[in-house]
Amino acid sequence: MNAAKEGKALQRCIERSCGAKFEINKQIYSCPRCGGLLDVVVSLPNINGLELKALWKSRLTSMDTHDQSGVWRFRELLPFPEESPIVTLLEGNTPIYDAPRSARYSGLKALQVKHQGMNPTGSFKDTGITVAITQAKLLGAKTVICASTGNTAASLAAYSARADMQCVILVPHGQVSHAKLSQSLDYDATVLEIDGNFDDAMQLVSELAEDTSIYLMNSINPFRIEGQKTVAAELLEQTDWQVSEHVVVPGGNLGNSSALGKGFAELLELGLIDRMPRLSVVQADGAAPFARLLSNSTIEQLRREALVPVKDPQTLATAIKIGAPVSWKKSARAVIDSGGWVVSVSEQEIADAKAIIGRDGIGCEPASATTVAGLKKLVATGRIDPAESAIAILTGHALKDTDYTIKYHREALFTHDRARARSKEERHIRGTFANSPKRVKASKEAILRVIEHM
Ligand SMILES: [Zn+2]
Repeated sequence: MNAAKEGKALQRCIERSCGAKFEINKQIYSCPRCGGLLDVVVSLPNINGLELKALWKSRLTSMDTHDQSGVWRFRELLPFPEESPIVTLLEGNTPIYDAPRSARYSGLKALQVKHQGMNPTGSFKDTGITVAITQAKLLGAKTVICASTGNTAASLAAYSARADMQCVILVPHGQVSHAKLSQSLDYDATVLEIDGNFDDAMQLVSELAEDTSIYLMNSINPFRIEGQKTVAAELLEQTDWQVSEHVVVPGGNLGNSSALGKGFAELLELGLIDRMPRLSVVQADGAAPFARLLSNSTIEQLRREALVPVKDPQTLATAIKIGAPVSWKKSARAVIDSGGWVVSVSEQEIADAKAIIGRDGIGCEPASATTVAGLKKLVATGRIDPAESAIAILTGHALKDTDYTIKYHREALFTHDRARARSKEERHIRGTFANSPKRVKASKEAILRVIEHM
């Protein structure tokens, strides 16, 4: 599959004090020696940068399945031998759009959004799952498992069906959007709803995957990160290899920011770009352990300090309702190395930003809107200059959570309050940009009167 690649890939512990190396096909998800996260280390191709860019571009007109996938098209960056059988739904190839209303709202002169919600199952997860499920197949796995807030579940369910593997999904009961749950059911996964939150589900799947007959597919699995990192290459190709000053992503389990950081770093090492974009992460206020850690620590402190999990994370942006993000150390590395920031935004800010992204004719799920809300905050606080270029990564499709959208536009969106400490009024998310449906008589005159007053 990969003639240009030389040498072998391996797995390596990311902890500076350890750095232990392991064979690429050893079925582990963390360092057996120190418990650290693992990186897949790929021998990058020994090929001229211009030739590599031309090779990737030439595949855009190919009819070969490997070339038609927006992930496998960049296979020189991936840790697989020639002729590996791949499991693909032709993921990637997602559009990048100008978003002028979102730009104005954020205080920027211009803004582009890369819509990862345009993947086969409607979220960015597909770019990582295609690679991790291919590795699962190579290892001979029969059963794959994940904990999910909904999107990973939908993606894994689809890809495991394609790969003819058993799929077990743990989700927090009552906390997954109907759209995401319905996908997993349709793709015939075994969906287990647990009494607990995502972090509880994550803990359980980690324990279950100690049995080597069960393969763990959460983003702690370094092969997920390998797939997701190709988004950096696709994004740069779409901008003619002009490096944007800022790239902004939502922060939940922090696999996405980790992957983009790794992708940009490898492209820099290959000489395909001459600098990294500043990578910033935006969390929801009620689920912001990473924002709290990075805003309170210097780089030196960060090397010693650990993330303090949020015990009972709260946000209506369920895709990022995570209190103990497993990939925080990789994400911190990406943010610090690139000179970015981590901020958090309120439920009201997320909801309003989502409506604005919708007004650009683009739309996204709530978690994705943290990017535009975060950009607005970063511009307002002077971290980002209005003239600087920025790309927001939208992670999920607008149809992933229609209940939320309808409630916002009907002025019926409320944050949860298990402690009953706040009144309904305090929990109400205003429909600042609400566009509620209007009841009219079924007559031409009545409709014309509405049109006249638009
Ligand atoms: Zn280690």
